[in-house]
Amino acid sequence: MAVPKIYLRVAVPSPLRRSFDYLPPAGCDLHTLQPGMRLRVPFGRSTLVAVLLAISDETDVPQSRLKRVSEVLDSGPLLSRSLLKLLLWASSYYQYPIGEVLGNALPVLLRQGQLPAVQGEQVWRLTPTAQELDAETVAQLERRAPRQAALLALLQAAGDDGLTATPIDAVQEHWRPVMRKLVDKGWVAVTTRVNLLVSAGGVSDAAPSLHPEQAAAVEAMGAGLGRFGVHLLEGVTGSGKTEVYLALMERVLSQGRQVLVLVPEIGLTPQLVSRFQRRLNAPMVVLHSGLSNRERLSAWLAARSGEAALVIGTRSAVFTPFNNLGLVILDEEHDASFKQQEGFRYSARDVAVKRAQLEDLPVVLGSATPSLESLYNAQQGRYARLALTRRAGVAQAPSIAVLDVRKQPMFDGLSTALLNAMRRHLESNGQVLVFLNRRGYAPTLLCHDCGWVATCRRCDAHMTLFNHRTRLRCHHCGAERPVEPQCPECESTELRPVGAGTERLEAALQHQFPDTGIVRIDRDTTRRKGAMATLLDSVHDGSKRILVGTQMLAKGHHFPDVTLVGIVDMDQGLFSADFRATERMAQLLVQVAGRAGRAERPGQVLIQTHHPDHPLLQTLLREGYAAFARAALEERRQARLAPYSHLALLRAEAVDGRLPLQFLQHARSLAEQSAMAGVQLLGPVPAPMERRAGRVRAQLLLQADERADLHRLLETWLQQLEADKLARKVRWSIDVDPQEMF
Ligand code: ADP
Ligand code: ZN
Ligand code: ZN
Repeated sequence: MAVPKIYLRVAVPSPLRRSFDYLPPAGCDLHTLQPGMRLRVPFGRSTLVAVLLAISDETDVPQSRLKRVSEVLDSGPLLSRSLLKLLLWASSYYQYPIGEVLGNALPVLLRQGQLPAVQGEQVWRLTPTAQELDAETVAQLERRAPRQAALLALLQAAGDDGLTATPIDAVQEHWRPVMRKLVDKGWVAVTTRVNLLVSAGGVSDAAPSLHPEQAAAVEAMGAGLGRFGVHLLEGVTGSGKTEVYLALMERVLSQGRQVLVLVPEIGLTPQLVSRFQRRLNAPMVVLHSGLSNRERLSAWLAARSGEAALVIGTRSAVFTPFNNLGLVILDEEHDASFKQQEGFRYSARDVAVKRAQLEDLPVVLGSATPSLESLYNAQQGRYARLALTRRAGVAQAPSIAVLDVRKQPMFDGLSTALLNAMRRHLESNGQVLVFLNRRGYAPTLLCHDCGWVATCRRCDAHMTLFNHRTRLRCHHCGAERPVEPQCPECESTELRPVGAGTERLEAALQHQFPDTGIVRIDRDTTRRKGAMATLLDSVHDGSKRILVGTQMLAKGHHFPDVTLVGIVDMDQGLFSADFRATERMAQLLVQVAGRAGRAERPGQVLIQTHHPDHPLLQTLLREGYAAFARAALEERRQARLAPYSHLALLRAEAVDGRLPLQFLQHARSLAEQSAMAGVQLLGPVPAPMERRAGRVRAQLLLQADERADLHRLLETWLQQLEADKLARKVRWSIDVDPQEMF
């Protein structure tokens, strides 16, 4: 009898939607092989690091074409069975190649084949001598050794934190010998940094006694520890959700189990980390996109070994391995950043729920403004809903009023009523937050003589004026150019900014309130590392009393002295082609309004609009978010939109303008020939912004009442598309449960 053959099913980092079979390496003890181990395999002309998915005694590959694994890299599985299962599920649910899904889950250094071990990482920073170099020395260096000068400037900008290799790599190639010269001159110091575990600093803050709603929520969720369950914690802003998380986390940690906390923005983590640190006696790590490769690996390993009891992270941290995970908390569950918008387009919220199910543990989804999907799931009894209906402590809900600005005189977008209210609040020592969800100086530059408008050369979009009106930038492709002194059409110099962004608003406010400190918080002012923290400090220490900003300000921040929130332009979001736009607008409005009056002093919210009678606005303001959500869900039900149907969006783009529609038309006919019962095809149509970054874009929407029908079609259809000739001429992607429809 022949010995049964053994085949290894392997995930290879390749864009192909499949796994690959290999023979075990020569002389390998087959009993040591386990799924989740890394292997080195020959692939095409190269050798790649792959992950073992399964061991099988059959294969469809002809014997003559089977290759052998070259090397087994790990002595045990790097990924647990349940995590591997989650990744396989995500690959099939989001129809994304398993090799690339694994790539998202593994730290870069492990993908490159390095050992799963913590090593110190070198950090370069300026010495005090270098910080005091005179201008002449620096100028001389710039002339004689520009590469040294560039590194010096880079380190100068990094400040006391210094820089690891990764960010330096991004700026200069082969920089190490150059850096060595700087070290020899005594201008740069090198140290090794290992630790990035935030240690428990000894608990310094006492927990407040929970109010009855908080206590009830903790009890209900506490009773569900140790088994799968999704809790939707709906708490108005400032109602004390974080206190509920803390109480629940304490229980889980005291059982010796780990907690994963997912947050929308890296900008929020420092506040949260220090709050957790003051309250919990637990070592924690923070996982976000700003880490160096070494740091990421260390944090990942600390979670996997159990050394880190608490992991706080953004979206991708949902794939972190744990030794003994007991609870997942996802804060601000409605936030769009939980959905990855390119490549592997997963929703960290939905993956978290799946993970909790596979590992049999509870997940808490918290928000003041839950997504319509989650509310629907609660209605259906899939999620348990818990409510915190009032603000914690002494804080009161803010009063909200609409300012009808029709026919009103406006000063750079600000009405007299809003300006007067600001004055009142500032005079009584309040802080004022002015919200405008548009950065830059002005969204449009217009020629007053001929009507020419500055547009992007590569997109169907206007250029935004920014940087003190000196430059134009396209927010869709990143293109930038200086402002022309004259109109390119008629040579007039009467070029005028139309509309306002945060930069213009800041200037206008400074003009109106010359003696008041103003701080602007948007993506442009917070780009530099540490900038956000510095800006927030200036608010908290009271040196800045007017805050101007975009939605970055709406998220989670606690400004105890803000008593007035002004929403400059409510009209932007009321009319949009995207069916989710009203939901997002409502969430944003409630979240921004929630920044007012979060401590002893009552808050006021003023909303400027030209559409005071808009039904959405009316329902939201009169009856609150829950009533708005009910009405919006009813609209979705009637229109058979998500969550009442299941959607997938096939997008295509190409430089040649005819190809995307051609490809999608072809894709449509392929779908029509296959088993597409229960699935409706809508389109193809040009994308709402048809041209972006020089490519023409189009899309085809798939809609199904039953998810199973949709997935049955996707599986065969995408395999067909992958093999299709036309598909190679366009860039295409599939987005399951799309959040943005363009
Ligand atoms: P959320 O996460 O819902 O925005 P937080 O948990 O941050 O709310 O609470 C808002 C404020 O109220 C914080 O300053 C917090 O310390 C305080 N707070 C929360 N719960 C209580 C409580 N039970 N008693 C007193 N103060 C509380
Ligand atoms: Zn002109
Ligand atoms: Zn552009």
